[in-house]
Amino acid sequence: MDGVYINGQWRTGAGTHFQNHCPATGDVVWEGHGADASDVAEAVASARRAFHDWANLPQGDRTAILERYADEIEKRTDAIAETVSRDMGKVLWESRSEAATMKAKVAVSIAAQVERAGTKYSEANFGSSHLTHRPHGVMAVFGPFNFPGHLPNGHIVPALLAGNTCVFKPSELAPGVAFHMAEAFAAAGLPDGCLNIVHGGRETGGALLNADINGLLFTGSAATGVHFHKHFAGRPEVILALEMGGNNPLIIWDPADIDAAADIAAQSAFLTSGQRCSCARRVILPQGAWGDRVADAIVARAEGLAIGAWDEEGMFMGPLVSEKAAVNAVEFQEMLIARGGRALKALERLERGGGFVSAGVVDVTQANDIPDEELFGPVMQIVRVRDFDEALERANATRYGLSGGLVSDDDALWVRAHREMRAGILNRNRPTAGASGAMPFGGPGLSGNFRPGAYYAADYCAWPQASQVSDKASRMSAQGFPK
Ligand code: NAD
Repeated sequence: MDGVYINGQWRTGAGTHFQNHCPATGDVVWEGHGADASDVAEAVASARRAFHDWANLPQGDRTAILERYADEIEKRTDAIAETVSRDMGKVLWESRSEAATMKAKVAVSIAAQVERAGTKYSEANFGSSHLTHRPHGVMAVFGPFNFPGHLPNGHIVPALLAGNTCVFKPSELAPGVAFHMAEAFAAAGLPDGCLNIVHGGRETGGALLNADINGLLFTGSAATGVHFHKHFAGRPEVILALEMGGNNPLIIWDPADIDAAADIAAQSAFLTSGQRCSCARRVILPQGAWGDRVADAIVARAEGLAIGAWDEEGMFMGPLVSEKAAVNAVEFQEMLIARGGRALKALERLERGGGFVSAGVVDVTQANDIPDEELFGPVMQIVRVRDFDEALERANATRYGLSGGLVSDDDALWVRAHREMRAGILNRNRPTAGASGAMPFGGPGLSGNFRPGAYYAADYCAWPQASQVSDKASRMSAQGFPK
């Protein structure tokens, strides 16, 4: 397959050959040469050439093209969903919802841009004051494997709307969807060069970091985001939007319906096989018999999850993205146990191999030195605490701050949790992984650099330009100033 899309043309890359395997079957689902540094430089130059005309197109024309793109994505829902599922393993209902979100992103981004990066005018004694917004230039877009269409799309759509052009490096673990995106943009009438694609791994990504870009829009792990942040240290002229992971807490405190609480906890931890940045990693429960019952109900759900390949009927979750990820998950669980954790239900690799694992639940209350890390898989840590003060303290004992939640019928506890829990996505009686596209998405700490995406993506896609305007030059006067 062609690894480089420049100025509206696909061609083979000059970089390293790589393959992507379906984590359910092991079949090769993508293979080709990635982009090397010269391909990347050419892609950036193509985006640079396209920038002037695209940025100067009337806003209405750009918006119309993006609206047509939404329709083109909808036409390709089945192809996008199958490609994503084969590439990274998630079950078809999830991939279909990813394709629907990609389409919906356009209307949300248009509304957000008008509201957050629009124009403002006010009259003044000298004439008027104007606020407009201007695009940055060429944006490099890096996406993760878990939403390989939706998350880069969530940067690309608002970036293009604002008048930027893009060079997109898809995840090498889920490269296929980029082809459908390129097709949909071309069919919508996006001028050549406004979106360029460079496939590849770190080598290609590194070349893009070193190219002549004006912004880096990144969604991925904290380790990569920190690396990128250091790379651009001392270069404030390059806009960085970093959306990273979390070590997300969910407190469950005395709701009347234990089954509902266990449902919310299990869905928070195990959706997409635990491969969502907003999945709950740590569930905090009171000590005592009531907390025991909740833990038992959670274990029952972990045992009952239907796990299978993306095209099998009735599956809740698919395999992890790769065999390596499955091995990592097992090792992480072993580390929790070695440090004093107790497996209430062990995560295990399934007989069918590949990335397939079952869900795990480990009580870490007695454990020591549990690292504050995100394991991107279906391992839930349970922490038992004496009182609600300790629950809040444990919830906030993380450098991350992406998502969190409280399951409780008690309004007063929600008021406290809402004020005291440090999480950008903070839900009550809803899974931590539930987030509205019409809201900002991101959190403090190691989860990002305070440039949340989704509804607030408009903020990092354009810079404000404030002008005082007078129709003709008039004499100036001031105390002590010569007349
Ligand atoms: P990753 O950081 O490994 O990779 C993301 C992208 O960065 C890929 O395109 C990869 O090729 C590139 N990359 C990685 N290291 C690089 C390097 N040294 N130089 C150049 N490019 C490099 O992330 P992933 O494993 O694909 O995705 C999972 C992670 O993403 C999790 O940590 C998850 O929490 C996070 N995530 C965050 C959000 C959010 O909105 N905050 C959403 C989804 C996923």
